[in-house]
Amino acid sequence: MTDIIKENDVIRINTDPYKNEPSVLQEKIRIFDLVPEAHPALKKVLPDFDFKKPPVDPNFFASSLVETCKLHNGLGLSANQCGFEYRVFVMGSADNYVAFFNPKILKSSEQQSKMEEGCLSYKGLFLNVERPAEIEVEYQDFNGILRQAKFTGMTARCFQHELDHMNGITYHSHVGTVSIQLAQKRRSKYLKLLSKTLKETNNGNNRSGNYRNIR
Ligand SMILES: [Zn+2]
Repeated sequence: MTDIIKENDVIRINTDPYKNEPSVLQEKIRIFDLVPEAHPALKKVLPDFDFKKPPVDPNFFASSLVETCKLHNGLGLSANQCGFEYRVFVMGSADNYVAFFNPKILKSSEQQSKMEEGCLSYKGLFLNVERPAEIEVEYQDFNGILRQAKFTGMTARCFQHELDHMNGITYHSHVGTVSIQLAQKRRSKYLKLLSKTLKETNNGNNRSGNYRNIR
């Protein structure tokens, strides 16, 4: 993450203040299941999150998304990837995650950048996606306060990927059919090798697998 994300924006859940002292707050946090990749929620345009009449407590919900994202080592996670039709996603790394409610892009740079992206909803599928390199955004934090920010690099990319999820769009729509087919082949190999490695590990035969290098 860049230093554009400020200390106050960060949701600090399960970090020091709460770690050794289970609190009501922590008890309310849930780990969500990720929906299967054919789930209709992934294709839905999500309605705005209404802070005047919130369908769910925004802080607890975002914190649960953060914990779910962290568990899967993700950089970002959208509500609909967990089957919830709320217009919110989280992104970050380590203990620094930010929740973006009702996110919008105000301005995109002409300059594009191409980078390989993965998605927690399509495990092992890596696609080279071209997107604007810099964006200016607006969103509401988990208190409903309107904020603006400027993102570049991985943060800009992640924001755009997650914003697509809010509109029922997945990263497939940014690449051609042939690229997807090739990536699907690589994915099958990756998943086969991953399951073989996991089986070997479960059998106590923990030979060092190199599946991490295969994409
Ligand atoms: Zn995704």
